[in-house]
Amino acid sequence: MKPFDPIESLANMRHEFGEHGGVNLSIETSTTFTVLEAETMPDIFQGRAGPDQGGCYLYGRHFNPTVYVLGRQIAAIEGAKAGYCSASGMSAIAAAVLQLCKQGDHIVSSNTLYGGTYALFEEYLPEKCGLQVSWVDISDLTAVEAAMQQGTKLLYAESMANPTLRVADIPALAEIAHRYDARLIIDNTFTPMILSPIQLGADIVVHSMTKFLNGASDVVGGVVVGSTEFVQSLMDLHKGSLMLLGPTLDPRLAYEVSMRLPHLGLRMTEHSKRAQVFAERLAALDLPVTYPGLDDHSDHELLRRLGHREYGAGGIFTLDLGSKEAANRFMDILQNRDRFGFLAVSLGYFETLMSASASSTSSEMSEEAMESAGIQPGLVRFSIGYTGSIQQRWTQMEDALREMDLIQ
Ligand SMILES: *Cc1c(COP(=O)(O)O)cnc(C)c1O
Repeated sequence: MKPFDPIESLANMRHEFGEHGGVNLSIETSTTFTVLEAETMPDIFQGRAGPDQGGCYLYGRHFNPTVYVLGRQIAAIEGAKAGYCSASGMSAIAAAVLQLCKQGDHIVSSNTLYGGTYALFEEYLPEKCGLQVSWVDISDLTAVEAAMQQGTKLLYAESMANPTLRVADIPALAEIAHRYDARLIIDNTFTPMILSPIQLGADIVVHSMTKFLNGASDVVGGVVVGSTEFVQSLMDLHKGSLMLLGPTLDPRLAYEVSMRLPHLGLRMTEHSKRAQVFAERLAALDLPVTYPGLDDHSDHELLRRLGHREYGAGGIFTLDLGSKEAANRFMDILQNRDRFGFLAVSLGYFETLMSASASSTSSEMSEEAMESAGIQPGLVRFSIGYTGSIQQRWTQMEDALREMDLIQ
């Protein structure tokens, strides 16, 4: 069988024409939808006549046609049966987890997570609904197995962990999860196109669309993809966490993101190509750079085995400057003197973004938690953009390295 290709899968989808035959899909802004016959209304409310069941649309917080198209497009990219979008990555994660867990349930999670997800699992959900979380080094499969219990509901990891860039062995994690009748959720925010977790055995994929999927740092959004049954359950009128908690994505924004998916593959290839060049040049200068595209990265082989190589090893690398002060000074020089990029959190933008993880996106973690997750205080995370020429950007980087006395 031909291996799964996200680009081909997206192109194989039925093209969504606009309502007047326009080549682009229409934006459905209505918050409510007319029902032709009054008798249909009870069926819709009982969940027997939704848009996929020969019925119709109901209300803007339930399925919206434009948002649903975007959900299906991302599902196609991920090789999943279904998907639906939400107003942020965090709401997508919270909805997926709450849909699977009830009061007092146990989950096993990677100890290296986006700070918001870490706080959700470490503080918010334990306090609000008694969620029990076992934190593990997801690369240590023996530890993962040891943390699983009878009744564990889910195993949670990021495809490429933030900011350590360790790659999850998704097939092995899926095998462990399924042996315990648990679901595997993968946050694929760092590696759209590069990794296809559903194809590798994961049950559910979540994304922050705010990052690479949208790519312009002008939309906050999230998406959950998985089985049709799971996505329908999120929207259930009585028990659906997306429907009842209501983090609804505006259809105008869904349209914007949808317009950027056709060049997602091109963008990922270019992000990866440039990150690879920078990482190789920094490594050649003997600087402490971490990038999964480098031979010496612990998960280099794993990523080559699991990933779609044409999209490279991702747009993110880290450089350890040794101390918080040095990290701050380096970023200050890169932004304000060399115009290399912006000192800002987030990633997946067309410009380069840089931040010191310990004092920003991972600051929800305690010092011990950061240390056990391998997040050093001087670690600078770069999300490499693709504006300007590579040579121009490298000259700027060299200038900053020289200014820091890191090179001659
Ligand atoms: C940004 C991010 C999130 C949260 O997404 P929002 O859109 O900001 O809510 C979750 N996971 C990862 C890996 C992220 O980078």
